[in-house]
Amino acid sequence: MFSTTTNNNNNNNNNNNGQTKFKVSEDRVKARNIGISAHIDSGKTTLTERILFYTGRINEIHEVRGKDGVGAKMDSMELEREKGITIQSAATYTKWRESSINIIDTPGHVDFTIEVERALRVLDGAILVLCSVGGVQSQSITVDRQMRRYNVPRLCFINKCDRVGADPWKVLRQVREKLRLNCAAVQIPIGLEEMHDGVVCLVTMKAITFHGQHGNEIKISNDLPSEEMRKLAEEKRKELIEIVSGVDDELAEIFLMEEEPSVEQLKKAIRRSVVSNQFAPVFMGSAYKNRGVQLLLDGVCDYLPAPHEVENTALDLSNNEAPVQTVSDPKAPLVGLAFKLEEGRFGQLTYLRVYQGTITKGMTIVNTRTGKKLKVPRLVRMHSDEMEDVQKSECGEIVALFGVDCQSGDTFTDGTINYAMTSMRIPEPVMSYAVAPKTRTDSGNFSKALSRFQREDPTFKVHQDEESAQTIISGMGELHLDIYVERMKREYKVEVEVGNPRVNYREAITQKAEFDYLHKKQSGGSGQYGRVVGYIEPIVSENEDGTRSTEVIFENGIVGNAIAPGYIVGVEKGFKEAAAGGGLIGYPVQGIRIVLTDGASHAVDSSELAFKIAALNAFKVAFKNAGPKILEPIMKVDVTVPNEFQGTVIGNINQRKGTILDSVAESDDVVVTSLLPLSKMFGYSTELRSMTQGKGEFTMEYSSHSAVDSSSQEELLKQFSSS
Ligand code: GDP
Repeated sequence: MFSTTTNNNNNNNNNNNGQTKFKVSEDRVKARNIGISAHIDSGKTTLTERILFYTGRINEIHEVRGKDGVGAKMDSMELEREKGITIQSAATYTKWRESSINIIDTPGHVDFTIEVERALRVLDGAILVLCSVGGVQSQSITVDRQMRRYNVPRLCFINKCDRVGADPWKVLRQVREKLRLNCAAVQIPIGLEEMHDGVVCLVTMKAITFHGQHGNEIKISNDLPSEEMRKLAEEKRKELIEIVSGVDDELAEIFLMEEEPSVEQLKKAIRRSVVSNQFAPVFMGSAYKNRGVQLLLDGVCDYLPAPHEVENTALDLSNNEAPVQTVSDPKAPLVGLAFKLEEGRFGQLTYLRVYQGTITKGMTIVNTRTGKKLKVPRLVRMHSDEMEDVQKSECGEIVALFGVDCQSGDTFTDGTINYAMTSMRIPEPVMSYAVAPKTRTDSGNFSKALSRFQREDPTFKVHQDEESAQTIISGMGELHLDIYVERMKREYKVEVEVGNPRVNYREAITQKAEFDYLHKKQSGGSGQYGRVVGYIEPIVSENEDGTRSTEVIFENGIVGNAIAPGYIVGVEKGFKEAAAGGGLIGYPVQGIRIVLTDGASHAVDSSELAFKIAALNAFKVAFKNAGPKILEPIMKVDVTVPNEFQGTVIGNINQRKGTILDSVAESDDVVVTSLLPLSKMFGYSTELRSMTQGKGEFTMEYSSHSAVDSSSQEELLKQFSSS
C-alpha cells in the first residue's frame, strides 16, 4: 500500500428531484462493487486469486486447474476446478487500503451469458482482463458488449506480459479498434516476456517493480530504468493527457494552457472520465508472475465509481412500472435485488445487492414479485466459501441471506414501497434435451437438482412433455445443458440418460384467417354447444429493440351478449392452449392475435368446456389457412481463425446455410461474423477444430427466431408426422 487515497468525491447525494440532501458515509465513498470479465484463459482466475492474496483474504496462492491439488479459491465447485473455468458467480468481500471491495465473479463462458449479465447488473465497475499475446478475442468482444449495455465503467488489465510474444501496445490498439473504447495506457511495462519486472506509472512517473516470492516487496523509484524508457513514458503520458482532455473539461483547460497537470489533477481527471464512462485506463502486468496486481487494485480504488455515483433505476409496480431512481440513502425504504442463488455447504444462499435503504437482521422484508413477507434470518458476507455474519447492510453493499425462498431476479423491499429492479433481458432457451435418471431410485435427487438449477438460472427451463411424459430441459446451447447434466452427476450423484439435442422451434402465421366453428353435441344426456366466430392475424408491430413480438394475444371483440361473459374464459383457454401446442410440428405459436367477434350459446347445453373445445378446433382450422411457418433459432456466430483458414471456414458456413455478416482481419487472424441456424451448429466445435488444426475458436449468441425455408419446413413436417 504505497499510493495515497485520492478519492475526493462529492459526498452529497441528491434524490431524483434534487430536494433531499444526505451525507454519504466515508465507508460508502470508498466502497467498490466490481466484476472481472475476460475471455477464457486470459488469467481471470489467476488474477482473482492474487487479488484475494494481496488483500489478505487468503494466505496462500494456489494455481488454477488444480495443479497443486487445491485449486484457486474462487472455483469452489469441483467441476469448475476440473474444467478450470468459472461457471458460478459468487460475490467475494475483501478490503484494499480503506476500501471495501465486493468482487462479483462473472462467469466467462458465453453459454452462461445470462449469468454474466445478471452479475454485470449489480456491479458498478469492472476490470476487463486481456492477454498480452492473444489480445482482444471474440469473447472479449462479447463481454465488452455486455458491459456497454449495462454502462459499466471499466479498467483494462493487459495480463501475461511475461509471456513470449507479449505485445501490450498491440492489445491496446485492438481495444481501441475492436472494442472502440476510448482508452490510454496509465502504465508502460518495464521489460516484457521473461524480463518483465514491473511498470512505470504514467501518472506519477515512477518506476515500480515487484520482488520476493509473491511480488509483495514493492520498490518505487524516481529513476526510470533507461533513457529510452523515460522517453517512451513521456510520450505515453502525453497521449494519456491528450485523450483524457478530450472528455474532461478541467484537464482540457490545463492541456490547452500547455501546463503540466499535477499528479492529483491528472488522477482526478482520470477518475471523472472513468466514472462518467468516457474513458478506460489501461493497466499492465502479469498475475501469474505477481507483477502489477496491487497497482490494479489501487486503480480500482482510485478510478472506479463508488455505488452512490452510479444511477440505478427501479420500476414502481404501484405506478404502472414507472421508472424511478433509487437513492443511495441508508435511511430510505429498502430496495434490494436478489441477483444470485447458490446452494453451498451452508445451505441456500441468496446474494442481495442493496440499492436503497438498509437491510437488518430480523427485519421483515417483502418479495415484490410474490407479495410474500419474510423475516431476515441471517445476513452474511461471503468470501468465496467462507462467511462472516453481519447485523446490517446498507445501500451500495452486497450481502448474502440465508434460507430465503425466492428466485434470482426478485426484488425485496421493506413493504412501504412496491419496486422491482429493472427486469433483465432473458433470452429464450434455444435448445432442449429429454433427460431421465438411469435408475428409479435417483428420481428424488433428479427433481431436486432440476428445481435448484431452474431457480438459479433463468435461462435454464424444465418442463414435462405431455405426450411423451419425458422431462425436457432447455437452455442456451449444448455446453450449457451438458454442464447441468454433469452437475447432476457430480453434485447429486444422478446418472442421467440424455436424448438427442432438439432445437426449440416456434410456429407463426403470415396472414389473417377467419374462423367460424360450432361445437355441438346434443344427442342424449347433457349436451355441449358453443360457437365461436372471429379471426387470427400475425402481430406485425415490433418490440423496442426491433425484434418481432412473441406474444399470443386474445381479444374479446364481441359487442353484446352473443356469448355469455362467463364462457369467454373457456374460449380464451381453448385458444391459448391451441396456440401453445402449435399446429404444424407441435411447437408454440408466437406473434399472434386472436380476435373473437361473434358466437352463439345455448341456454342449457353451453358450458365453459364446450367453448374451450370450440376454440381449440376453430384455431386448428384457421391456423391452416393463415400461411403457417416454422421458425427456428438463429445464432450470431463469431469465428476467429488464422488468416489461412478464412476460405475454409467461410465455405463451411455457407454449406451450413449461414449468412456472412462481416469478415475482419486482425493481424494474423480473421474474425468471421455470421448468422447461422442453431440446427446447423451441432458438432461445430469439433469440426472447426479439425478444419483449423485446433487454431479456430467461436462464440455464439442467440439472435432471433426466423422462418425456415420451404424445403426445411417440408422435411420437419415429414419428420413430425412419422414420429
Ligand atoms: P481464466 O480462464 O481467464 O480464468 O484463466 P486462468 O486464470 O485459469 O489462466 C489460464 C492459464 O493462463 C493458466 O494456465 C494460468 O496459469 C495462465 N496464466 C494466468 N495468468 C498468467 C500470466 O500473467 N502469465 C502467464 N504466463 N500465464 C498466466
